[in-house]
Amino acid sequence: MRFKNVFLAALLVAALSPAAKAQFTLPALPYPSNALEPAIDKATMELHHGKHHAGYVKNLNEALKGTSMEKQSLAEILSSVSKASVAVRNNAGGHYNHSLFWQIMSPKKTAPSAEFSKAIASTFGSVDKFKANFADSAAKRFGSGWAWLIVQKGKLKITTTANQDNPLMDVVAEHGTPVMGLDVWEHAYYLKYQNKRADYISAWWSVINWPEVEARYKQAMK
Ligand code: MN
Repeated sequence: MRFKNVFLAALLVAALSPAAKAQFTLPALPYPSNALEPAIDKATMELHHGKHHAGYVKNLNEALKGTSMEKQSLAEILSSVSKASVAVRNNAGGHYNHSLFWQIMSPKKTAPSAEFSKAIASTFGSVDKFKANFADSAAKRFGSGWAWLIVQKGKLKITTTANQDNPLMDVVAEHGTPVMGLDVWEHAYYLKYQNKRADYISAWWSVINWPEVEARYKQAMK
């Protein structure tokens, strides 16, 4: 009984504190910040997650304040982002993209299953050809942006977006459900790789969380 009252009091304090009003929160990294070394170094990971992603979350909450989108889910905001401010577009994209990015990487060495390899091969010829195409698209994305593997009308497709846009937004040409995304902003690799984006992309394949990518693919195909 006593425990219950303390618990309820804590809930009340949480509900009344300014922090509780923040609609979106920074998700914790699913692994330690040095876990993806050597592909992604600890310093880059800490800045990328703790400063860049945290900044998108903070700025998104501020940009949503007092707008009609304040109570919407991230998916709802993205699907009608053409009606939102530039700040909401950039920071909602930044929050979604980075949340996905941390999840589709893992320190565990994994590989695409036979079933998923077959699905990839049926579209791109082979898993290796898919990787080559994806890496090429990521390397050619001019300036800051993302490379994506998406499901579009039941089919796998590679696409890229500028800035923090993503394929869920109603403003992009290639609409679809992201199953894999690669951040090619300089903040994602410059500390370790400097201008050598291709080296970063090539190292990135060693930290893909293939079971997570496949789970997202299966969900998108439902
Ligand atoms: Mn980033």
